[in-house]
Amino acid sequence: MAVLVVTPEANAVEAGRAGADVRALVKLGPRVAGTKVMDVASTYLIDEYRKAGYVAEVQTFTYPKFEDLGSNLTVGKTTIEGRALNGSPKGQPTAPLVAVPNVGRAADFASVDVKGAIAIVRRGEIRFLEKAQNAAAAGAVGLIIVNTEPGNISGTLGGEVKIPVLALAGERGGPMLERAQSERLNVSLNVNTRISRVTGRNVVAHLQGVTRPSVLLGGHYDSVPGAPGANDNASGTAVVLEIARNLSGTSLARQAWFIAFDGEEDGLHGSRAFVSAAEPQFLSGLKAMLNFDMVGVNDKLGVGGTRSLTTLSKAVDSSISTFQAYGGSDHAPFAKAGVPVLFFYRGQEPNYHTPQDKQVNPRLLDETAQVGLDVVKRLLMSDTDGER
Ligand SMILES: [Zn+2]
Repeated sequence: MAVLVVTPEANAVEAGRAGADVRALVKLGPRVAGTKVMDVASTYLIDEYRKAGYVAEVQTFTYPKFEDLGSNLTVGKTTIEGRALNGSPKGQPTAPLVAVPNVGRAADFASVDVKGAIAIVRRGEIRFLEKAQNAAAAGAVGLIIVNTEPGNISGTLGGEVKIPVLALAGERGGPMLERAQSERLNVSLNVNTRISRVTGRNVVAHLQGVTRPSVLLGGHYDSVPGAPGANDNASGTAVVLEIARNLSGTSLARQAWFIAFDGEEDGLHGSRAFVSAAEPQFLSGLKAMLNFDMVGVNDKLGVGGTRSLTTLSKAVDSSISTFQAYGGSDHAPFAKAGVPVLFFYRGQEPNYHTPQDKQVNPRLLDETAQVGLDVVKRLLMSDTDGER
């Protein structure tokens, strides 16, 4: 490894700066990948990184995105709003409604005649895909899957299906399933979906001339539609930026890259695009990828990921809890590429993915940034090369 001259410690995190960043991002409204808001949000981040002394640029990437433009079922004069299963083709068949017993195994479909009909079946036991493929194989022209509890399903088919598939909330679909068992109903299914091409924008920042960092810090800045994404994940975005501000001016900044990922909510597209565009030597040179997601709500800070890194975090702050890392955020593509990862997360909270996700506790951001900063210092100042 390179000989490292460590300048005096980076200062303690300045209170409230990260909180101001979260407010600035939240003010823009939901930050949905591929929308104009992301141009504004990425420009904000670039400006802030540049003010802190970094070279900051946008890395674009594209991916297909499934969209439900509004799907429903009409019975007589009543229209019931539903949700297209992710991956469902569009279609507007009008046909008799046939209740399928049990959960829609092939044998269940064999016990009724769904040829030319719209089948309706309850959720559970087997995959959505299996139900849909069984329905299509039995000759149905559409499928309705009814949730077994109140509220709707956000489900994904995850494979090819030839017929439109609609999910209904339990309280709306349940009575419909019952009626179809005793009366002959003629219904119209309207599954209105499309696949669009999204252009995502990662913001990548580092000091001029730094091409082989030892540590990469990141967090996604996109949010789901309708949610201003304060905690998920303006919080992590702001923490990474705040760590960058604090490292700037120290020699440690010459070993770090900072990224605000886009397209996370659609399936980790930004981090996946970054990893697949990176050279193998870039990835193998990383001692750690630190990912921050949902760190502005809940007192308890948790970390997951590579064992040596969770251990190091606990040495920095013994109050940190550890959890089994899971693949639901931007560290996952790095872990898959063999990069040691550390995932900072404060756990689930009620406003997650809702329009109410508009506030965080600025103190928690500052505390997370301080821990992140201390972990980076410990990591870069210790001789842990080869420890994976
Ligand atoms: Zn998130």
